[in-house]
Amino acid sequence: MLAMNYRGPYRVRADHKPDPVIEHPGDAIVRVTRSCICGSDLHLYHGMVPDTRVGHTFGHEFIGVVEDVGTGVQNLKVGDRVLVPFNLFCGSCFFCQRELFGNCHNTNPQATAVGAIYGYSHTAGGYDGGQAEYVRVPMADVGPFKIPDDIHDDDAVLLTDALPTGYQAAEMGDIQEGDTVVVFGAGPVGIFAAKSAWLMGAGRVIVVDCVDYRLEFVKRYAQCEVVNFLEVNDMALHIKKMTDWMGADVCIDAVGGDASGNITQTITGRLMKVQGGASTVLHWCINSVRKGGNVSIVGVYGPTTNAVPIGNALNKGLTLRMNQASVKRHLPRLIEHIRAGHIDPKQIITHRIPLEEVADAYHIFSSKLDNCIKPILIPPS
Ligand code: NAD
Ligand code: ZN
Repeated sequence: MLAMNYRGPYRVRADHKPDPVIEHPGDAIVRVTRSCICGSDLHLYHGMVPDTRVGHTFGHEFIGVVEDVGTGVQNLKVGDRVLVPFNLFCGSCFFCQRELFGNCHNTNPQATAVGAIYGYSHTAGGYDGGQAEYVRVPMADVGPFKIPDDIHDDDAVLLTDALPTGYQAAEMGDIQEGDTVVVFGAGPVGIFAAKSAWLMGAGRVIVVDCVDYRLEFVKRYAQCEVVNFLEVNDMALHIKKMTDWMGADVCIDAVGGDASGNITQTITGRLMKVQGGASTVLHWCINSVRKGGNVSIVGVYGPTTNAVPIGNALNKGLTLRMNQASVKRHLPRLIEHIRAGHIDPKQIITHRIPLEEVADAYHIFSSKLDNCIKPILIPPS
């Protein structure tokens, strides 16, 4: 089959690899009809995630059709159209029983913190991902979700990660009626966090980024105010001025970063490093939120130590919440929002690129070229 193949930082290509096979009675094989590239894949592409091995196939956002099932699979049959949440989970451990599917205890037992994620390095379990023609889906009775007939493939693929993650970001912010919510990052996750903030009762939504075409998109799509941080000297002061000197009720980090805090530099060419090595955006969240406010973090950080401005967080009495999204928990509610017309996820898809051209797709998405917001990869038919 054709599959994305990681060769090293900034080097990916499409190669022929052996088709995946059923390795366990609980497995299914899914023929992929669409997959996305995610901001999380950029962390792999940039070499930020330890134990990302040459030869690994990325891709944790994919949908497809069940091609084969193991003898133990009861809930799926050949031909079912399924979306596969990005986390692999067992469905029965302490965490899964509490619907914390992103924190499953059984799918990545060697790791101390991270759960298992398709196509996300051996740190996240070493499972090959869905930027391919076929993918092996373990525990197929538990993770995959049959796509209702009235849900479009383009919406379904965004339900594997970006939309539920944005939604969970807003949920973890514990938004109260009328709250002012500041979302850092106007990528797919930030866009959906902004949209979700309104669904949860926000009175005002402000999105911060430095990429103008993304800010223009989110302003229109989520009817929010926007700030280009390159035009601002002091972010916390700026947000305070915008909020009658209170600060935001809720700040959401939909950016993430690396241990050196240099992610902004890779995008803008400007050095935005914050002393102490923490991410710029984490400082901005903690300093821009009001006393007693909530900071919700879904942006991904390397598993290395990050210096958090914990003193300010303590002095302000903040609540900090963060997690990998538990995708499956949100699906029924999000499908109802799509049906009701509250949200139209597929509008964020800007590029449809053949899987053969995966190297171009990564380059365009990583470098923010050609007004790219969300690229999807189409396998050969
Ligand atoms: P993306 O790369 O498309 O978007 C990130 C955006 O942040 C870009 O538009 C960039 O210009 C902007 N940015 C960079 N520095 C900034 C700063 N200091 N302030 C404000 N904006 C800044 O990525 P995405 O797909 O939207 O994902 C966003 C983050 O969410 C990534 O870190 C990704 O790994 C993470 N993520 C987490 C989960 C989870 O379950 N927790 C799931 C999916 C994605
Ligand atoms: Zn993702």
